[in-house]
Amino acid sequence: MAMRSAGLNSTPLATYRNVCQCSFAFNLTLKPALRIAFVPVAQVSEKTGSLILPNQKGIVTLGMQGKKDYQEKLFASFQLSERIPKDNFYRRLKGALDLDFLYPLTRGHYGNSGQKSIDPVVFFKLCLVGYLENIISDRHLIAHCSMRLDILYFIGYDIDEELPWHSTISRTRQLFPEAVFEEVFTKVLALCVEKGMVIGHTQAIDSAPVKANASMDTLELKVPGEELEEHLKKVRAISSMDREEPHRKSKKDRSDKGQRTVSANTNELEAVKGRNKKWAKDQDQRPGAGNKGSKYTSNKTHYSPTDPDARISVKPGKARKLNYLSQLSVDTAHHVITDIRAYHADGKDNQQLPDIVKRLGKRLWQQGLVFENCVADTGYSSGENYAFLENRNLRSFIPPHGTYKGGPDGFEYVRSHDHYLCPQGKVIPFTKVFNDHRTGTKKKEYRARKHVCVDCPLRSSCLGKSAQEKKFSVTYYRDQYERNIARVESPEGRYMKGKRQSTVEPVFGTLTQFMGLRKINTIGLAQANKVMHMSAIAYNLKKYLKFIEKRSKSGAGQLALSTLLKNALMLLFGALEKDLEPNPQC
Ligand code: SF4
Repeated sequence: MAMRSAGLNSTPLATYRNVCQCSFAFNLTLKPALRIAFVPVAQVSEKTGSLILPNQKGIVTLGMQGKKDYQEKLFASFQLSERIPKDNFYRRLKGALDLDFLYPLTRGHYGNSGQKSIDPVVFFKLCLVGYLENIISDRHLIAHCSMRLDILYFIGYDIDEELPWHSTISRTRQLFPEAVFEEVFTKVLALCVEKGMVIGHTQAIDSAPVKANASMDTLELKVPGEELEEHLKKVRAISSMDREEPHRKSKKDRSDKGQRTVSANTNELEAVKGRNKKWAKDQDQRPGAGNKGSKYTSNKTHYSPTDPDARISVKPGKARKLNYLSQLSVDTAHHVITDIRAYHADGKDNQQLPDIVKRLGKRLWQQGLVFENCVADTGYSSGENYAFLENRNLRSFIPPHGTYKGGPDGFEYVRSHDHYLCPQGKVIPFTKVFNDHRTGTKKKEYRARKHVCVDCPLRSSCLGKSAQEKKFSVTYYRDQYERNIARVESPEGRYMKGKRQSTVEPVFGTLTQFMGLRKINTIGLAQANKVMHMSAIAYNLKKYLKFIEKRSKSGAGQLALSTLLKNALMLLFGALEKDLEPNPQC
């Protein structure tokens, strides 16, 4: 029966069927529901031969155009490994990274009863994906992984398997000690060493603050054990913003008594007070002085109850924030990270250098590498550090800090007699070694007798108003300073400076911008250390895969292997020939 639509010269159903079957190749084997919907209303344009659908606005030209029809299948024949291309990053990573050593390493951290926990290899792989994809939230990480076939393949999950709950990731991160993360880092470094990516002799060291997971708004005042009211009166006078409660009371106070108590001595507190007064005087006159966050804060007077290990620190040109300090060492050959660690952000670089060097030297030695040159910026400069490096047979390329002076201007040092000659040619002899309590450094004192300067024409400019004799102190490590300065100013030193700038600084940039180190998403120094290690592992693995890919493309690896084989064969046959040669004595 032909069906017609009002106001249209509709084609009878029989005609439509014919047209569809012959000229338009319309697939009538589609769903019956679709066929029924089209049949009563369709007509064919005589001019163009198109199918006209009066219930729609336009003309549908069927021709060779395809139209995907989606009907969800209940059962599908699907193999995840077939869908992942051979050159996919995660597929290659899966092939290169063997984390099976984690099973015996972490066995002791699991209980004997209760629910089965997350597979340690899956946990580490999930964490790695987070840093490789620059995702710092565990919840986002799981959502992201569940949508990516290549990541599912990498972590060993099929598409219909449920991924671990996001809070399992953070709980497992807390469960495993720092040593497990360091072990994974060392294993990945060993992979890089094996491929010849790490030379070891020159290491560039640098640091950068990484934002902690705590807000400045929740800062609380530190109080002494006794005289609480007295102390609060003193410190609250510093800034008007500290008179009341914090801007935002922290939900949970994780600090212990030691962190809530003022540890600074009277002199240090006086210094803070002086700085605060100056700051308050300048600040109170500025517009917006009463705004939220407009208060002078110091680690000596404030602490964060949210994350007591986070410290207030400031970078030139940046706002004060609660941070951790990341200390990073990079091998200058292929920019592989050889060491990373989280420190309190109020520590100084030069105080942390010995710790870094000891750890770094041990790790390189374990890999069969020799550490020779230590390259760092001025922040790591100190006489103690130069002496420490020399004692370990390491050459320092660390520019001296601005306050270093080998002695007063115009005075000449005579090493053979360990004394100075003043501009008038008078001897200023060495008198004693002492510890400067202000800077905590070892110094040497040089002092002339009164009678030496009595008739000197330069007396007023040289001694000042009240001094009767010439007296000054110089660092105990003057020789080490001078040897280091000679190295820094040599052509090799200039080359090392360039190496440092082009090595460790871009690595930090990559970690903070692309490897999830823009913020620490955990609480506490130990957790921050784990986060930093994971970020460095992700970075090294990315470098490693890039390196082996480049090598296989260029054939450098094969060349090295064939040379090695050739040398081995030559050695073998050389030895054989020697054995077969007739002995003249026989
Ligand atoms: S005042 Fe004394 S130390 Fe200074 S230049 Fe004169 S003699 Fe030398």
